[in-house]
Amino acid sequence: MAGTNIDYLKRRIVDTMSVLYDRGYLSSVGGNISYRAGEIILITPSGKTKFLITPDDIAEVSLDGKALNKVKPSSELPVHLVIYKSRGDVNCVIHAHPVFTIIASMMFNESFFQGTKITPESAVYTGRVKVISYRSPGQEAAEEIEKIIGHSDIIVVKNHGVFSTGRDIDEALARLEVLEENSKLIYYLSLMSVGFDASLAQKVISEKYALPGEEVDKLLKIYKK
Ligand SMILES: [Zn+2]
Repeated sequence: MAGTNIDYLKRRIVDTMSVLYDRGYLSSVGGNISYRAGEIILITPSGKTKFLITPDDIAEVSLDGKALNKVKPSSELPVHLVIYKSRGDVNCVIHAHPVFTIIASMMFNESFFQGTKITPESAVYTGRVKVISYRSPGQEAAEEIEKIIGHSDIIVVKNHGVFSTGRDIDEALARLEVLEENSKLIYYLSLMSVGFDASLAQKVISEKYALPGEEVDKLLKIYKK
């Protein structure tokens, strides 16, 4: 594949990271994007402020994860690689933390969340949505996603975020945005139609939805600088 095409794809990745950050889909430390360019996987780097990355910060790896340049790839690389290996039709994977989708995936049962479409776009663009329970980022999440990616276009990992796939970056972005829009509508419709009880919500979130203390300790060790 010609170098100019790789340059173009790197530019699209960088610009889209900035869009995701501006839309509130990422924090400065979370989220990543990859693009398949022939035999090369381009992916955002590890440990860089997400809205400041440039095309030179994009890592190049083989499908087996071998480094092809000097940039350290995102720690979510294992998830991106299992998706490309399993899905020849996928050329872009966007991983982000859209808040309303995370909330809705944790508050509602899976079949309701996956099957409830509020707008025409959500009926058409979101593709096959699958919710999975929390897995530690990286290899653990990759092993679970490998089992279901053959029949899913968007994976929502509870307590974490979304992996949106597409034939190109525009499709992966549209799926992510439309899913988040739909989740936001579900969230507000539920709040406005049945009300909100703060003390009950506090109890339920502490007991049912917050990460357990052991997982927080594990994450602190993994990501300690
Ligand atoms: Zn993440």
